[in-house]
Amino acid sequence: MNYNAPHRHAVIELSQSAVVHNLKVIKENAHAKEIMAVLKANAFSHGLPEMAALSITAGATRFGMAMLDEALTLRDLGYVQPIDVLGLTDSRYARLAAERNITLAFSTKESIKAAAEQLVGTGLTLKVSLPVDTGLNRIGFKSREDLVAAIQELSAQDTLIFQSMWTHFATADTPNVDYVDFQISEWQRLTHDLPAEPIEKHFANTGIATWYPEKINTDIVRLGIGLFGINGSVPIMSMPFELIPALSLKAKVVNSKPLKKGDAVGYGAEYHAPNDGYLITIPIGHSDGYPFNGSGMRALVADGQIGHIVGGVAMDQSMIFVANPVAVGTTVTLIGRVGDQSITMQDLAEHTQSSIVALMNDFAPRLQRIIVS
Ligand SMILES: *Cc1c(COP(=O)(O)O)cnc(C)c1O
Repeated sequence: MNYNAPHRHAVIELSQSAVVHNLKVIKENAHAKEIMAVLKANAFSHGLPEMAALSITAGATRFGMAMLDEALTLRDLGYVQPIDVLGLTDSRYARLAAERNITLAFSTKESIKAAAEQLVGTGLTLKVSLPVDTGLNRIGFKSREDLVAAIQELSAQDTLIFQSMWTHFATADTPNVDYVDFQISEWQRLTHDLPAEPIEKHFANTGIATWYPEKINTDIVRLGIGLFGINGSVPIMSMPFELIPALSLKAKVVNSKPLKKGDAVGYGAEYHAPNDGYLITIPIGHSDGYPFNGSGMRALVADGQIGHIVGGVAMDQSMIFVANPVAVGTTVTLIGRVGDQSITMQDLAEHTQSSIVALMNDFAPRLQRIIVS
């Protein structure tokens, strides 16, 4: 079940100014003409409806999604911009995609032919993209012979439009420039002098647009993680410009009480208060995507106190130990900024020895999403 919980005070706030800033600095850095907002997986779990609206406000002109269902969801939300499905789709859905003006990727001549057959007699045309596998070894054409044959098939079908040809880099967010260069040489080897040319080509994700924009054409940037203001590079590479995290995670205190030195907290009764203080409970747990092993993380209380999560993160609730009393209803920030204090997803990833990308993809649908300025 995919539900959200507007009657609970646990929210993801999405900052419009952050998204506008992130898109602008990356677009400028890459001298890009167009930004394709890649909003797969519920917009990296930030929330698709909200992030789609923010992306368009920020200047994105089109969308990239992982699968047809996500693209259909965007159409159902009313978006009329071009949508690329970046994963492979079964040819039997060619008609559905054509009806909704969604571009599908195919990586064999046979799947292209089968897609065309679905459209015979419908009066519909389907935009087709051809991924070229230059070294990620995930999807796409790896042999020039297969690519040429596929383009011949595609060109012979008047129900299909040769919309684009593209590749995806394996090391764009790493210092491995040699592999970037290798993939570029593979692109040249595979795609020179083809029997037909697509309407457009695209190459850049966040990493290329950030660290290697001079290497290859970046007219169209397929912008994923950078849009959210996250540097997802491993090992962490320094940013040539500043990104601002779009997401904050906040909850309001539902329970507050004094705690005596030695009192146990949470399942297992393993944590004991090191001194007298106060314990506040917030309605966010690991079912919301906050890490199961988040104990010990800081939490920023609106009154300026910095507490720590203690006693384990439960499914739906967490407890925070603070020095001074806190009123029920006070806002607590688990990710985000309060005054001059901030907790980033990077902090959380380091504390929990997890990947920042995995963490940012974990936020549950049941958290309410709110757009703030
Ligand atoms: C996910 C994805 C992107 C976006 O990548 P980021 O590194 O998050 O910007 C771009 N292109 C393809 C093919 C993808 O799968």
